[in-house]
Amino acid sequence: MSDGATRTDLEQWVRAFAQQVEDNKDLLTELDAAIGDADHGANMDRGLKAVLVALEQDPPATPATLFNKVGLTLVSTVGGASGPLYGTLFLRFGGAIGDEEPVSPARFAAALRAGLDGVVARGKAEPGDKTMYDALAPALDAFDAALSDGAGWDVALQRASPAKAAPATSANAASVTRTRARRVQHSSSRPPTPRCATARNHRLDRIREATP
Ligand SMILES: [Mg+2]
Repeated sequence: MSDGATRTDLEQWVRAFAQQVEDNKDLLTELDAAIGDADHGANMDRGLKAVLVALEQDPPATPATLFNKVGLTLVSTVGGASGPLYGTLFLRFGGAIGDEEPVSPARFAAALRAGLDGVVARGKAEPGDKTMYDALAPALDAFDAALSDGAGWDVALQRASPAKAAPATSANAASVTRTRARRVQHSSSRPPTPRCATARNHRLDRIREATP
């Protein structure tokens, strides 16, 4: 992949993501159980399996259409806040990456930045809020820094790996739980924000699911 990523390479990346979610589905649900409704792993796994089916049924011809399909499928199959957030990430990513192949590391990084900006705009996340932003931003910063140093795909991806860009520990996971739990408690005394609106939509979705 030294000259750039083809649509096939990028589809492999999506498939690897789907596999990672499937392999860690129980852990994701366990983490969600501490602060939410214990459905994150199951939700994401369902959404990504739907993505794999959609890719088989109507194979996308370009990088842009690939990520557009991923985003739209996640929005329509994953409930709660995760659907809109991951959907926005991939839709913005697809909108920025374009149709041309191969995709250079710089274009990949710029597209991912557009996706991450979309997540921030959608969820109003700020650094240190212990949201998905805090996992993605250090990785992307490390990727950008590697490219500035003249690194190619392989080295840049290696430097952006979670272990290098943002070491995660079980102590961090406990801290995430406490921080977010405090936020939820605190937010009940604040005026509604788009984040609250997302939570409200989630509740509405659950009500609709429970309604015959
Ligand atoms: Mg949940």
